[in-house]
Amino acid sequence: MDSATSKQAKVHNAQRLRKNISSYLGETIDIDVVLSDCLAAAKTHGWSIEEITVPNKPSLFAITRSPSRNTHQAPRIYVSTGIHGDEPAGPLAVRKLLQENQWLENASLSLIPCLNPTGFRLKRRGNDDGTDLNREYLNTKAPETLAHIDWLSRQLSFDLCLCLHEDWESDGFYVYELNPENLPSLADHVVAQVAKVCPLDLSEMIEGRPAKNGIIRPSVDPRSRPQWPEAFYLLTHKTRLSYTLEAPSDFPLPTRVAALVTGVRAALAAFPAAVARSH
Ligand SMILES: [Zn+2]
Repeated sequence: MDSATSKQAKVHNAQRLRKNISSYLGETIDIDVVLSDCLAAAKTHGWSIEEITVPNKPSLFAITRSPSRNTHQAPRIYVSTGIHGDEPAGPLAVRKLLQENQWLENASLSLIPCLNPTGFRLKRRGNDDGTDLNREYLNTKAPETLAHIDWLSRQLSFDLCLCLHEDWESDGFYVYELNPENLPSLADHVVAQVAKVCPLDLSEMIEGRPAKNGIIRPSVDPRSRPQWPEAFYLLTHKTRLSYTLEAPSDFPLPTRVAALVTGVRAALAAFPAAVARSH
């Protein structure tokens, strides 16, 4: 453990549990309860709820809020999670964000709190057919992903997309940035804020890719990869700026939820200034 990491562990009083050895073996959630809490919070705060029906599967839900003014100038922001059924912190983070209801005042927001309900019910990564839905966004067969893409195809483009995940192997929080046009980056602000509530993974290689200070900036051409994650679809069809936030699932669940909530808040807080710098 280097000095930065030991200092972080002291600050957060959160360390790896060493419980998750060959896969995620930690806390699970009742996704139906978490989803109904999300929908209740959305109704309380005046958001719209769109049910996305999926043949022979539970519905997905898109929770949306229109901007308060200047509709044509308001940034359009998309947040999704729950595509891997063994990553409970994402849906819990969206529930907390909805319940606390502190958002950019003038923004269009679209949240999808769970893209894989059957995986959560079975407490496993893939859906009930055993498909990893986050590899389905190019050659799509899974009904959930077909329904999600159909919904996305009906949306205007987004200025910023955030996908919330967990990684049971990581030593701390990290973020992937997909930013092919070199727009002002939000990544430094995201990791700086998350570091206050959760250790960062400071490895120089994460998931086989070079990383620095918890940030991976992969230089990938989606067309070169056959198995598209959601972020590749978003980058190709719906946005020019995408972040995948990865909470470390070998840490206590409240730490991981705090990491994702803080990461989303940090991205949203930094976004207006970043847009202003780019003009
Ligand atoms: Zn994931």
